[in-house]
Amino acid sequence: MSKITIAIDGFSSTGKSTIAKQLARHLGYVYVDSGAMYRAVTFYAMDNDLITDDFFDVEALISQLENIKISFVFNEDLGFAEVYLNGVNIEKEIRTLRVSSFVSKVAEISEVRALLVKQQQHMGRNKGVVMDGRDIGTVVFVDAELKLFMTASAETRAIRRYNELLERGDDVVYEDVLRNVQERDYIDSHREDSPLIMAEDAIEIDNSTLTLEAQFDMILDLANKALEKEKSSET
Ligand code: C5P
Repeated sequence: MSKITIAIDGFSSTGKSTIAKQLARHLGYVYVDSGAMYRAVTFYAMDNDLITDDFFDVEALISQLENIKISFVFNEDLGFAEVYLNGVNIEKEIRTLRVSSFVSKVAEISEVRALLVKQQQHMGRNKGVVMDGRDIGTVVFVDAELKLFMTASAETRAIRRYNELLERGDDVVYEDVLRNVQERDYIDSHREDSPLIMAEDAIEIDNSTLTLEAQFDMILDLANKALEKEKSSET
């Protein structure tokens, strides 16, 4: 049966993972949250005192990369795969504002990127995957049959992230969340290695004013068209 690869990139909190999970469930594909992998490496660095507010031992992190084993385990109740670091479920730990405040610095390191990109490409080797991140359409799967680039205003995104954190019971201040979203966007789009840019063949979706249903219908239509194209190219 024909399968395609769907690459979803974009700024922080543009709803990439929401649409990626919906698509994966609908199509019976595997969903991979590549940001969770960068967050897992960041969590490792924090847990091993390699990064704090005014200190980051990049060389030590690079030399310890071989100790970092990231895996995804599907959780039936949640309907998606949770991330594990060296066999321990760290899904909750990696979603804090503290991890968010360090993750873009960790994601600038080329050695970290090379390691994670290799693992991501391996996970998608048989197609039938929906992966979201910042460099999926430009680096990880340059041949993806469908590439989306999600955008929304910084304020819309910060409100979404703020509400998510509040729902989880985190004690956060809106201004801190907005600042974090803006800082990460800046670092992610200005880093030297694999900056966040829209692939030439990506379709841009601004969902500032789209309902989730309207967005899903629109993107499912794009996915079905890409699938049809793939099928006809195989016959
Ligand atoms: O997607 P999420 O917001 O969880 O990603 C966290 C961070 O991981 C991003 O801000 C970015 O710095 C980094 N990232 C990346 N490349 C990816 C996915 C995430 O650099 N493919």
